[in-house]
Amino acid sequence: MRPAIERVACRIMEAADELTALDSAIGDGDHGHNMKRGWQAALDQLDELAGLPPQEALQKLGMTMVGKVGGASGPLYGTLFLQAGKAWDGTLSLGAVAAAVEAGVAGVKKRGKSEAGEKTMLDVWCPVIEALRSAEGAGDATRRTRVAADAGLAATRDMKATKGRAAYLGERSVGHLDPGARSSALLVGALCDLIDEEAHA
Ligand code: ADP
Ligand code: MG
Repeated sequence: MRPAIERVACRIMEAADELTALDSAIGDGDHGHNMKRGWQAALDQLDELAGLPPQEALQKLGMTMVGKVGGASGPLYGTLFLQAGKAWDGTLSLGAVAAAVEAGVAGVKKRGKSEAGEKTMLDVWCPVIEALRSAEGAGDATRRTRVAADAGLAATRDMKATKGRAAYLGERSVGHLDPGARSSALLVGALCDLIDEEAHA
């Protein structure tokens, strides 16, 4: 968990201005700030989180996101991590990771009353689940997962938002990437990079 949290936090912090710019176009311009606050809180708890079994650390991370991050994304990312942590057996087997992500995403859908296709983070996470499921036995799970996340993000550009703040813009939300989909793709990409590096170490 320690390298995973450090890697994701670093990637998100570096991209905070980009996330804010995306959210300024179709929301209220706070997504970079929200994500920065959440991942800084995770870094502040790093020793504690790293000392826990990974599935408990993920749940605690979820509670931190709910508690520290304002806006829609805090409770949604919080639910994602909390539910994923509850469902996870703590291993990195493909089946275990897929089941955990699936449970986390089910939590986001329930909490957000949302589905894929509405220009949200779900447009990254739902294809990621499919990629993980399709990678069983294929040996290139991280490549498939990264490709699915990036394609899911890119697809949000042409979507009309029907959930979250961007939905107020209606048709005017078309033509912009969704900020939460961008932060989700960054998170997925950071974890895939880390897993690839560990595999080649
Ligand atoms: P806020 O919208 O409250 O300002 P943020 O800007 O931090 O919060 O996060 C916005 C992101 O949250 C959106 O880009 C979208 O990906 C995600 N989001 C918002 N509402 C929902 C929802 N109902 N379901 C899934 N994701 C959502
Ligand atoms: Mg916002």
